Amino acid sequence: MSFFREEFTARSAAVRVRFGAGIRASVAEEAEALGASRALILTTPHQAAMADEFAAYLGPRAVGRFTGAAMHTPVDVSEQATALAQELRADVLISVGGGSTTGLGKAIALRTDLPQIVVPTTYAGSEATGILGQTEGGVKTTLTSPKVQPEVILYDAELVATLPVAMTVTSALNAMAHAAEGLYARDRSPLSSLMAVEGLRAFRDSLPKVMAAPGDAAGRGETLYGAWLCGTVLGQVGMALHHKLCHTLGGSFDLPHAETHAVILPHAIAYNAEAVPDLLAPVTQLFGHGNPGLGLWHFAKDAGAPLALSDLGLKEADLDRAADLAAANPYWNPRPVTRDGIRGLLQAAWEGAAPGV
Ligand code: NAD
Repeated sequence: MSFFREEFTARSAAVRVRFGAGIRASVAEEAEALGASRALILTTPHQAAMADEFAAYLGPRAVGRFTGAAMHTPVDVSEQATALAQELRADVLISVGGGSTTGLGKAIALRTDLPQIVVPTTYAGSEATGILGQTEGGVKTTLTSPKVQPEVILYDAELVATLPVAMTVTSALNAMAHAAEGLYARDRSPLSSLMAVEGLRAFRDSLPKVMAAPGDAAGRGETLYGAWLCGTVLGQVGMALHHKLCHTLGGSFDLPHAETHAVILPHAIAYNAEAVPDLLAPVTQLFGHGNPGLGLWHFAKDAGAPLALSDLGLKEADLDRAADLAAANPYWNPRPVTRDGIRGLLQAAWEGAAPGV
């Protein structure tokens, strides 16, 4: 297997990444290394207790907390939190949580240029990208800026050990989707492909372990390692059909983010495998079943992931409109996106059928 290309552009962000069970207790040291002495801690309401824990690690460096992070980074919440950061004269943001909390930290950083220390508690991977999705008036827009790229990431296996089993699986598949689509990205580099394959391998090996023993620290550590690699791929290359479908289903039909990724991934990969079998061959090598989509579908099934859009609340009558929306606004994909092709893909995903069978 080779990822050599005759021409490519590789870009990496300057990010400091630390791994280890219990590494979150180093947060004060990391703030000091950034020259910061006034930290604002961010969480969701559900994880507000984490703010207490981090305030204790930070001691006098903790000047405030904002525990109102919400799904899809609503602009009004970001503006409230930005006003608090300014009022407190915060000089560093500590985001403790999943993609929603990381999104809030990024939204404040966009408005203030404050540095961010992110302590992820899911596998979504947002901490490793300079991408920010925000919603205002029900409309989601996405931007990429070096201002929103977090400076420091602390990956602590103890924090994902509390992730409920169902969320563990869907969050892992969400992360794996970034790596799988990264393998055929037009702007991929040898490094992004190497990271994508190792990220998929890490989840393949560790997810069954953490399903069997959710508190297994070594297994959880390896899932976070996978999250870092997959998230870094997302930060370096463009996504295609899979992400477009998930955004359409999430944005227009209000389907849940991580579950939708889990259901769509095998189908989108099977669709594109017809056009780029060689680029997706590493996925078949890792997951078997002679086809990358089928291999991922069996992996998801064995892990107990949701397999059918019908189980996520989508009605069969919505499939035509979903296909129209996903096929509109042409975008780059390795295989041409046709309305009929997408309609067929969505039907199989709605039924929970194996892709391409
Ligand atoms: P999330 O952050 O929305 O978390 C979902 C819920 O689970 C929250 O209530 C949270 O508090 C809780 N939770 C998180 N970790 C937990 C843990 N360890 N134990 C118990 N509960 C926990 O979910 P997510 O899937 O991490 O993030 C989804 C969001 O991130 C979406 O809005 C998505 O668009 C965004 N995202 C952005 C990027 C990017 O690069 N910009 C990348 C991936 C995802």
